[in-house]
Formats: sequence, C-alpha cells, structure tokens
Amino acid sequence: MQITIVAGARPNFIKIAPIIKEIEKKKNEGYDLNYRLVHTGQHYDKKLSATFFDELSIPDPNVNLNVGSGTQAEQTAAIMIGFEKELQAFPTDLVIVVGDVTSTMACSIVAKKLHIKVAHVEAGIRSGDLKMPEEINRMVTDSITDYFFTTSKLANNNLMQLGINEKQIFFVGNVMIDTLLSKEKDFRQPKAWQELNLKSKDYFVLTLHRPSNVDEESHFKNMLNEIITSSRNKPIIFPVHPRTKKILDTLDINFENLHFVEPLSYLEFNYLVKHAFAVLTDSGGITEEATMLNVPCMTFRNSTERPETCDIGTNVLVGSSIEKIKKSFEKLFDGNWKKGAYPELWDGKASERIIEEIIKIYNL
Ligand code: UDP
Repeated sequence: MQITIVAGARPNFIKIAPIIKEIEKKKNEGYDLNYRLVHTGQHYDKKLSATFFDELSIPDPNVNLNVGSGTQAEQTAAIMIGFEKELQAFPTDLVIVVGDVTSTMACSIVAKKLHIKVAHVEAGIRSGDLKMPEEINRMVTDSITDYFFTTSKLANNNLMQLGINEKQIFFVGNVMIDTLLSKEKDFRQPKAWQELNLKSKDYFVLTLHRPSNVDEESHFKNMLNEIITSSRNKPIIFPVHPRTKKILDTLDINFENLHFVEPLSYLEFNYLVKHAFAVLTDSGGITEEATMLNVPCMTFRNSTERPETCDIGTNVLVGSSIEKIKKSFEKLFDGNWKKGAYPELWDGKASERIIEEIIKIYNL
C-alpha cells in the first residue's frame, strides 16, 4: 500500500519520526508498505524544521510545498492548493496527519475531498477553547477522519460522544513519547548551560507562544513580571519562538535572571527540561514531556486538551492570573509540588501499535 505522511510544523516532526521508523521496519520485514513524506513548509526556519530532521533522523521529505508564513487563511489555502497537486501527481491509499496544526487540518480536507482515507494521530483531544486555532484544526480534522489514533481513553470518549464508531478508534499511546524515550540517552547540554553556569534543578525553562499570552502587550508584560518576581532570582531560560520574538522585539523587557535564547534543538531543549527545577509554558507537547521526565510544570492557560498531564502528570493549569501564578511558585518553592505518574500506554510503543493496526485494516 501507499501512504502519504504530512508534516508542517515543529511539533509534527517529533510525532512523525517514530511512525516513519516503524513503517521502514515493517517494510524491511516484507510488508507492502511504502510512503511519501510531504513537508508543507508551514515552518521553514532552520531552528523549527531542519534541525529536527537531522537530530531525529527523519528522511528528507519527498516534496516541500514551501507554503511559508501568512495568515491562518493564507496558509490553509496555500497548503490545500499544494497538497491537492501532490495527491493528484502521487495517488495514495492513506494520508496520515498528526497533531493539530494548520497543515493537519488543510491536508485532511484535501485528502477526503479526493476520496482518500485519512488517519489522524493524536485524534480526539479537546481543550474546549475555540479561540485556539489548534482547537478548530482538531475539530475539523476529526470530523472527516477515517482512523483515529488516540493518546488517552478520554480522547476515545470525546470521539464517541461525537458519534464516531468505536471500531474506527484506536487507543495506541503517544508518539511524542516514543520519540522522547528513544532519544533520552542522546539529550545534550545546550551552549547556554556553560555560558550561564547552570546547575541541575536550579533554573526554570520558559516557553510562551500562544496568541492569548503574547499578542497583547500589557498582558504579556504583567505575566512576565509576575513570573520574574516569583522566581526568587533563579535563572529563567526562555527559548523564544519566532512568533514571540516579533512581539518581544517591540517591547523593552530586561530582567537580570531572564535569559532569552534562540529556539533550541530537540535534544538540547529536552536536556534543559529534564534537569530543570520546573518548566513554565503554554505549549501542549511540552507538558507531556515534563510529565514523562517527572519535572514540575506550570501551564499558563485556562484549559488543556491534555488533561492527563494534570490528573496524572506533573502539570498544573495556572492560567494567567497574577494571584494564581504567585501561589503556584510558593507551592513549588515549599517543596509541595505533586508527584506525577505516567499516563497509560505512554511507553514508547505507540507507533508500533499504529502500524500494526494499519497492517490489520489493510490486510497486508
Ligand atoms: N521544542 C524544542 N525546542 C524548543 C522548544 C520546544 O525542540 O526550543 C520542542 C518540545 O520538546 C516539544 C515541541 O517542540 O517536543 C513542542 O512544540 P510547540 O510548543 O511549538 O508546540 P505545541 O506542543 O504547543 O503544539
């Protein structure tokens, strides 16, 4: 069979790496599995794209649609136009999309309109917050997906509540964790470690890039102020997403213990997370990694599509209220942060399960 795998943005690359590895493994065992990898070009900055291909040994994409940046609609349109041409030129039996970025949604629509089956990896998760573009991407993708691969039983329930047939839903675990567990031995110190003389468990890692946190100047500044005030002078390392950089460049933000760095490579970033006192973030994927690495994590959002990171893991939704931020830091410094555990099936074998299911579905 022929599979087309789509990836467009940073978190996608981490998710497709183990799926591709598993397809290649099964192909070598003699299964009729072939794939084409399509990079939509949604992220094109070397630090958000190429480094992940190198570090995670992802083969070069067969094609890059080079859509570049633009508004939500501009990117969606460019991806759809490019991907339709791709599928017409290279017919396929199944399109695999991962996660919740614009490419995920745009490519699933194109595939479905060409009557091609769609598999969605990380299906069924919901934050309930329709102001997040990702939530719309999740809803649209899941409304036309044929095979739903999920990271939690809660995601299965969300899908069943939408009336999706249980037979189309496969609880397989978390491909992001497949990558984390297989690469943990290769994590390496970023340059900043020596430069800033960092000590294990004695600094924070901060990432912020959600529009709800960074787009409004006074909100962003107040939040940063409270984080700095509460941090008791421990170094805070902030790898700045290009989206956030554009905004930061217009603000005058300067604190002695706040260190801006470029986006880090996967192996460097997760080294920092693993050895951090705590992670401060508004990312989704990072809350899963902090959970698996057993590092306290504060999420500056009011909702999460990954509730297991809070119910089972080390993550706490802190929102953006100054009072709540202050209280959370106090809890952390008092040594009262909850102990986390590992969510079910986050065991490094999700990709294996996905490909096994595909082999069964297609009778290979
Ligand atoms: N990440 C990275 N370098 C960084 C920041 C994040 O490699 O400087 C990785 C991180 O380990 C995680 C992924 O990027 O695997 C999360 O991406 P992002 O926060 O952009 O997306 P989200 O998960 O919020 O959709």
